Amino acid sequence: MTAAEIRQQFLDFFASKGHHIVPSAPIVVKNDPTLLFTNAGMNQFKDIFLGNKPAPYKRVADTQKCLRVSGKHNDLEEVGIDTYHHTMFEMLGNWSFGDYFKEEAIAWSWELLTDVYKLPKDRLYVTVFEGDKAEGLEPDSEAMAFWKKHISEDRILLGNKKDNFWEMGDTGPCGPCSEIHVDCRSEEERASVPGKDLVNNDHPQVIEIWNNVFMQFNRLKDGSLESLPAKHVDTGMGFERLVRVLQGKQSNYDTDVFTPVIRATEKLCGKQYTNSDTGKADIAFRVIADHIRAICFTIADGQLPANNGAGYVIRRILRRAVRYYFSFLDVKKPLLHELVPVLAEQFGNVFPELQQQVDFVKKVVFEEENSFLRTLDSGLGRIEAITGATTSAAKPVIEGKTAFELFDTYGFPIDLTNLIATEKGYAVDMEGFEAEMKKQKDRSRAATELDMGDWTLLDEQPSGIFTGYTELTADAKVLKYRKI
Ligand code: ATP
Ligand code: MG
Ligand code: MG
Ligand code: MG
Repeated sequence: MTAAEIRQQFLDFFASKGHHIVPSAPIVVKNDPTLLFTNAGMNQFKDIFLGNKPAPYKRVADTQKCLRVSGKHNDLEEVGIDTYHHTMFEMLGNWSFGDYFKEEAIAWSWELLTDVYKLPKDRLYVTVFEGDKAEGLEPDSEAMAFWKKHISEDRILLGNKKDNFWEMGDTGPCGPCSEIHVDCRSEEERASVPGKDLVNNDHPQVIEIWNNVFMQFNRLKDGSLESLPAKHVDTGMGFERLVRVLQGKQSNYDTDVFTPVIRATEKLCGKQYTNSDTGKADIAFRVIADHIRAICFTIADGQLPANNGAGYVIRRILRRAVRYYFSFLDVKKPLLHELVPVLAEQFGNVFPELQQQVDFVKKVVFEEENSFLRTLDSGLGRIEAITGATTSAAKPVIEGKTAFELFDTYGFPIDLTNLIATEKGYAVDMEGFEAEMKKQKDRSRAATELDMGDWTLLDEQPSGIFTGYTELTADAKVLKYRKI
């Protein structure tokens, strides 16, 4: 089954259960000061759960573009190193707004995985909330009873508050959740160590695929819980992980979600992806295949790379990818922009906003790459000079001043400096770096205000649905963004 068919089957399945299929919300969040990027399918329904907005439909399903690179969910450090955490990923989801609850949600997730997708039942484990006495939370005996109708008891595992109780924030809707994990190890490995010992244990072949959240409480300001009058279901399944499991691959990067971009990268750099866990070149292939998606979909949703806020997150991701091809694939000229049309074509039917702006996105990415490549080599040389010198320190340190110089003169985001330092066995004096940053901020308040002006301008897009740039405004925006 192709990835496109797998996605379609998910949507068709929930449509057949009375769900209205809605489009993905933009990956960039404009009207929520607590969130820069969409990091879960439920974000666009937050006001419904909070009771601020009526639900347009009682049952909804979709695939949502998510980004987990900042705030509470930040998976950036794992990306490329492991094979199942991405920066940008699709979260398939189904929701009940005060309609069906645990029994149907559990039955349907089981039906979809085992009847429709035909996943072997002896590869699956589910988790159920074990309760938390100190918090006055009961075990989720309802979910337990419903699961027992479908799966043998030894495959139902109890989970703690960290993994199996979901809260939107300090106050508001919350409730227990039940997750589904898949054991993709070989038969031999499964015989020697039971899969249940590896669930939620960062094992690369025993991975979580689906989270079913049952919102049944409201947490009040004093910390107490009251029952919600209407109970909701909120689920999220990692699309790339599902595809990997169904296509019988060991890594998300071996599925047809990622192979078109990896093949294109091979052509561009004249090297082969060999799928090793730790080889630097292979990590670079994975980082590029991952990061280009985050970059493209974020720009297509209206967020340009910039020196601050959400725009800086994108610039950081882009520079990280550039450093990986420069250092480990030996590519010294812009490469990422060449991958934009590959993604645009691949996702033309799912997220057409990229195809609609493909030339614009390509141009922005090219400019960004070009500008960082102008200083990258000298910056890397600067780090080499420091880390290449002999030192007697057990844990040598790159000084705050140097890290700041790398940031200010060579455009190295601090997390990039940290990454390279770690590779070389160095630490970075973060306090010193922060102090230098503060000094600079004090020096250039006027310039910061100018940045804010530009930021406001980007936000002056007419509110409502983002329909893409015209060539003219696209050019105007590139000019504006060059000025920053
Ligand atoms: P994990 O424990 O693997 O980090 P999670 O518990 O943080 O996942 P949830 O917040 O429950 O994830 O999100 C629902 C689903 O989204 C997960 O079951 C998983 O399939 C998928 N998912 C979460 N984070 C990522 C990511 N960084 N890349 C790809 N898929 C992800
Ligand atoms: Mg996580
Ligand atoms: Mg988890
Ligand atoms: Mg989870």
